Amino acid sequence: MSELRLNVVTKEWVIIAPERGSSPREIKPQASARPPLPVHDPNCPFCPGNERETETEVFRLGNGEGDGSDWATRVVLNRYPVLSREHVSPDQKHHGLRHSLQGFGVHEVIIDTPRHDIATARMPRSQIETLFRTYRARYRACVEDERIGHVVIFKNHGLAAGTSLIHPHSQVVATSVVSYQVRDRIRTLEDHDALYGQCVLCQMIDQEATEGVRVIHINDSFVAFVPYAALSPFHVWVFPLRHMARYGELTDDEVKDLAETMHIVLGKLYFGLGDPDFNFVIRSAPRTCSASAFHWYLSIVPRLGRTAGFELGSGMYVNDRAPEEAAEFLQSVAVPAE
Ligand SMILES: [Zn+2]
Ligand SMILES: [Zn+2]
Repeated sequence: MSELRLNVVTKEWVIIAPERGSSPREIKPQASARPPLPVHDPNCPFCPGNERETETEVFRLGNGEGDGSDWATRVVLNRYPVLSREHVSPDQKHHGLRHSLQGFGVHEVIIDTPRHDIATARMPRSQIETLFRTYRARYRACVEDERIGHVVIFKNHGLAAGTSLIHPHSQVVATSVVSYQVRDRIRTLEDHDALYGQCVLCQMIDQEATEGVRVIHINDSFVAFVPYAALSPFHVWVFPLRHMARYGELTDDEVKDLAETMHIVLGKLYFGLGDPDFNFVIRSAPRTCSASAFHWYLSIVPRLGRTAGFELGSGMYVNDRAPEEAAEFLQSVAVPAE
């Protein structure tokens, strides 16, 4: 029997229809089907030794001084940016019903690791920590510019997730305007905060951590779980246990705990589902949002199916894997320590 569930964050209805998929007993851990890659590709613009091909470096972490090849992460401006701050104004123009502005914003590429061949799930935990510290540095650098209203940090892994370059990388896109989707979600959360004086996401985290049915991993600072009304199979949310609206507020200890969580959660997807294509996105409060109403989180969406006509036409999702079954399977997948 199918069931309709309301997603408390997105306010979207989802039809959980597990009889369309196979039963959880039939999911077996799969090996990656990706062809093996070289550790270093001399033709890759992101590999060490080719730094001159990405001259617009804005940041790096690692042991190396200056512009050598001894780095752990590098951040460069996107060669084909969708937005830019160079000679571009954030001022909006209005002509009757027409509103526009120049393509103002930030579009950076984060090179996750010097290694060409390694999936985030298989990186040493220390490298994942360096990566999430790099995200924090770029988040903070973006919001220093008061013209920036919203910062989105994300990663596309694999062709189905929209990536065009193999070398592991992430992206930062920051805009002066805030999208309708984000404004709408913030408005509902702010309404709840005003009515009940409480963050609805703190409430949800409490409930999930207490019940534990959908929890994949929990440590001192983070909890990872399959959402009660997951829009797609094996969707995972990673929430800080402490209430904070913005990713830039993370302490060093919390970055360490986030790296531990991601090592486990991405490892479970890697070893359980055979290194699937996925997107992850850090959803953080826009500048205008009050600190009490929003609770930042990281959303991981494995790209296992295709959006069909019904989803496009109705805005209602069909998930053929019950969140409890997906969680039970992921709980059972073992992840090697490093
Ligand atoms: Zn490379
Ligand atoms: Zn909260």
